[in-house]
Amino acid sequence: MDHVIGLQCVRCGRIYPPTGVAYTCPTCGDEGILDLLYDYERIAGRLRRDLLARNPERTIWRYAPLLPVEDLRLAAPLTVGWTPLYRADRLAGELGLSGLYIKDDGRNPSASLKDRASAVALVRARQEGAAVIAAASTGNAASSLACLCAGVGQPCVILVPEAAPPAKVAQLLIFGARVLLVQGSYDDAFDLCLEACRAYGWYNRNTAVNPYMSEGKKTVILEVCEQLNWDPPDLVFVPVGDGCIIGGVGKGLRDLQALGWIERRPRIIGVQAEGSAVLARAWSRGTEEILPRPPTTLADSIAVAKPRDALKALRAVRESDGAYVVVSDEEILEAMRLLGRTTGVFAEPAGAAGVAGVIRWAREGRLRGDERVVALVTGNGLKDIASALKAVAEPPRIAPRLEAVQQLIREGLLPGVAG
Ligand SMILES: *Cc1c(COP(=O)(O)O)cnc(C)c1O
Ligand SMILES: [Zn+2]
Repeated sequence: MDHVIGLQCVRCGRIYPPTGVAYTCPTCGDEGILDLLYDYERIAGRLRRDLLARNPERTIWRYAPLLPVEDLRLAAPLTVGWTPLYRADRLAGELGLSGLYIKDDGRNPSASLKDRASAVALVRARQEGAAVIAAASTGNAASSLACLCAGVGQPCVILVPEAAPPAKVAQLLIFGARVLLVQGSYDDAFDLCLEACRAYGWYNRNTAVNPYMSEGKKTVILEVCEQLNWDPPDLVFVPVGDGCIIGGVGKGLRDLQALGWIERRPRIIGVQAEGSAVLARAWSRGTEEILPRPPTTLADSIAVAKPRDALKALRAVRESDGAYVVVSDEEILEAMRLLGRTTGVFAEPAGAAGVAGVIRWAREGRLRGDERVVALVTGNGLKDIASALKAVAEPPRIAPRLEAVQQLIREGLLPGVAG
């Protein structure tokens, strides 16, 4: 761990030694989210692009020298990361773009990008000898932590709002986690988890409060850059709830630039749902002041009243000359349909929000046809079937006879020659 030189508070700028604090800045409290500082010279002596090219490790651990972990024997034996980056030519064509790529992070073990953070949390917790790991979550961070803990038999306690989509709760139960359905919102579960961790000494995997989560999440953009042969895209569209993923994307790009592996950074575009747009609103007011507001979007994974990683999220966008964009639930459902039909990738609503942002900008003429664009798809559609069914029309029910099929052909509802 000699490559981690400190933890810096994003609020007051104080720097703490790597083992000096567990979670947040003692001066600023829960708002004092910490950012890891690295010794890039040391890292450069251990990790090079040509070494990576020869590394057969197809998981986030191929970037271990850039991560706050030491002993990879503590990691779960599950394949986290190195998800596909698809060239989405047909989707690009419909939008008048030429280079559109989809990073399908629904392909992780628990089917969301959260596995990147949970994998790091698990190693950190085991390194510290934690008896129990706990997390509050809208659903995906929870199912992800439960999944990775199951991989090594690590006990975990999960707090989710009782309205979490049933598939995510099913995942938790199948992975054998102790599950608490909190009669309240995600924000209520989050605060309760903070309290319980303090009271019982559980290791806390809560997003943002645990500074190592954005380090895990940054691996998504390390992969994107490597998959594009270190020629970064012009823009990357990221679904945003608490802001940890987008903060991680900013961090990963900063790392790569510090190592001299990329020459320029893509513009980072944060996409929020209209019904959960606290960060986008702060962005358009030009302030870092957060005005919490209860969420109303169907995209449950980005439904947060009070984004916990606000400063990292706003600064990642600002430093990249990016922007925030807001999309409606209708646009998210349309993005799910269009993405599915043109690429074969099935996203949950939050997972499709980045694509919804691309569609919105393409239609508003804010993307040049020759710009290379990456959209992160952060979670798989099977996690929330009820929402997916809202995006599509009910198919016809027919009698089991060819005549019924023929009738549909006659009505022009099926391809074929009308008889
Ligand atoms: C958690 C999550 C997000 C948002 O990530 P934040 O770090 O909270 O901004 C987006 N999509 C999916 C599928 C998620 O699970
Ligand atoms: Zn501070």
